[in-house]
Amino acid sequence: MVVEVQALISGLLAGDRGSVARALNLLEDHRPAARSQAAKLLTALPKERLHEKGHLVGITGPPGVGKSSLASALIRHWRREGRRVGILAVDPSSPLSGGALLGDRLRMLRPEPDKDLFIRSLAGRGELGGLSADVFPMSQVMLAAFDVVLVETIGVGQTEVDVVMHTDTTCLVAQPASGDMIQFLKAGIVELPVIFAVNKADLGMVAQRAASELRASLPRDTAEGGWQVPVLLLSARDGEGIGALVTTLDAHRAWLADAGALIAQRREHSAAWGLKRLAHEFGCFGVEALGGDDELRRRWRETKGSAFEVLEALRREHLAAWDRTLET
Ligand code: GDP
Repeated sequence: MVVEVQALISGLLAGDRGSVARALNLLEDHRPAARSQAAKLLTALPKERLHEKGHLVGITGPPGVGKSSLASALIRHWRREGRRVGILAVDPSSPLSGGALLGDRLRMLRPEPDKDLFIRSLAGRGELGGLSADVFPMSQVMLAAFDVVLVETIGVGQTEVDVVMHTDTTCLVAQPASGDMIQFLKAGIVELPVIFAVNKADLGMVAQRAASELRASLPRDTAEGGWQVPVLLLSARDGEGIGALVTTLDAHRAWLADAGALIAQRREHSAAWGLKRLAHEFGCFGVEALGGDDELRRRWRETKGSAFEVLEALRREHLAAWDRTLET
C-alpha cells in the first residue's frame, strides 16, 4: 500500500473523514510495507497537536450500564457546541460471541450523517494486550483530526481500564443496584478514574443511594489544588446531567493544563505505550540492551519529538547493535 503521507496529514488536520479512515486502516495493517508507511505517518503527525491540543476522553464500565447511550448524548452535546468529534469504540469481546459492537450500537443511536463526527470500532478476539497497543496510535491520529476524541471500552477489570488509561480524562460509568460498586471497590479501580458517572438517575432513590455510597468510598485528595474525583448522577436516556458531565470533563482538562500536567501525562502515557511496544518487538533483553526501563522512559519523557520518533530511533539503534553483533 503506497500512501502519500503528507497528503494524508493535510487531510487529517482538515478533519477529513476519508483521510482519518485511510490512516486508521494503515495502522491496522500489520504487513511489513504498511508498517513502514504507518511509522512514516505517525512520526510526521504534528507534535503540538499531540502534546497540547484536543481532549482525549476515556469512558469505560460494564456492559448494559448505558455507555453507548451516554456516548451518544455526549456526541449530541459536543456537536451542538460545534466541536468535532472522533470516537474509538474498543470492544474486547469477540464479534462472534454475539451482541452488537459498541461502534455499531452508537451508529444505530445516531443514524443521521454528520461530516464532523467519525466513529471507528475496534474489535479484539480475546487478545486485549494487542488491541490496547493499537488504541494508542489510533487515538493519536484522531487527536490530529478532531477536537474531542472519545475512547470507549467495555469492562470492569484492570485490563479493560488500561485501554482508556492513556486518555487525558477517564470516566467510569456505573448503574444503580447492580453490584458494580462492589466490583470497582474490590478491583481497586476506584483509584483510577477521575470522574465517576452513575447513570440511570431516572430510577430515583436507588440511583441516589448508589452515588452516595460511591462518594463515601472515595479517597479524598488533601493536596492543595488536587483533583477531587466527582461522582455525577445522570440519565443518558433523559439527558439529565449531561451538561454537568461535559462541564466536568472540560474542568478536568483545564485543571491538567493549568498544572502543566497535560503534557507530562501525555508523555508518560507515550512512554508506557512505547516501552510495551519495544518489549513486544525485542523482548525484555532488547529493552535492557537499549538502556533499561528507567532510561527509556526518560528518553520518552524528555523528547522534543513525538513518541513515534523515539520508538523509530530506538528500533534503529537496536537493529544496528544487532548487526554489529553478527559482524563480530
Ligand atoms: P452499554 O452496554 O453500556 O453501552 O449500554 P447501552 O447504552 O446499550 O444501554 C443498555 C440499556 O440501558 C439499554 O436498554 C438502554 O436503553 C438503557 N439505558 C441507557 N441509559 C439509560 C438511562 O439513563 N436510564 C434508563 N432507565 N435506562 C437507560
